[in-house]
Amino acid sequence: MKVYTLLLGPMFNCTYVIENQEQAILIDPSWDIPAICNFLENKKLKPIAVFFTHAHQDHMTDADKFLQKYDLKGYLEEKDEAFCSLPINLISTYKAPKKFEFAGLNIDILLTPGHTRGSVCIKIGNIIFTGDTLFVNSVGRTDLPGANAESLIKSLVMLSELPGDTIIYSGHSYGREEGFKSTIGQELSTNPYLKMAKENPKLLEDML
Ligand SMILES: [Zn+2]
Repeated sequence: MKVYTLLLGPMFNCTYVIENQEQAILIDPSWDIPAICNFLENKKLKPIAVFFTHAHQDHMTDADKFLQKYDLKGYLEEKDEAFCSLPINLISTYKAPKKFEFAGLNIDILLTPGHTRGSVCIKIGNIIFTGDTLFVNSVGRTDLPGANAESLIKSLVMLSELPGDTIIYSGHSYGREEGFKSTIGQELSTNPYLKMAKENPKLLEDML
């Protein structure tokens, strides 16, 4: 299995391409659909599944064009359906936590609400795609409609309990080189939010 990161759009959104057995699973394909299609064609990869970490517009800008081109539906946690901007016929909703299998990979969807009600983290082996729940040195906003700080704290506590060598790929790089990639162990030592989630989650209430 290989993971490729495409940084696209003005907010440095991460589109992830997960390669296995000459097939590709995509996470949050958005913004520059031609660039994503070219990438797949150059690598001779067939996209077989698309997952969205949540339904914020910047994670699905123009994703309808991608889904239509490859005749796919995008998997979205059902609690985010209400504000999903994609045509409903292009979406397949499900209730997390849930397990999927694509391209010979076990895909474990964890429900991690807080940034949105239906935010998920997508775990494959020792890699986890955290969307806007957990960033390098930061966490997702809780001041947008549908967000909830208390839920985010619970989600962060859950993530803080993953093995330290779990590799994190987050939803944005925010312009920093490799700013999308870390490990749970690294974040426990440098990310004040995750550190506090592990040590004293009560204190996080004042930070979010
Ligand atoms: Zn978001």
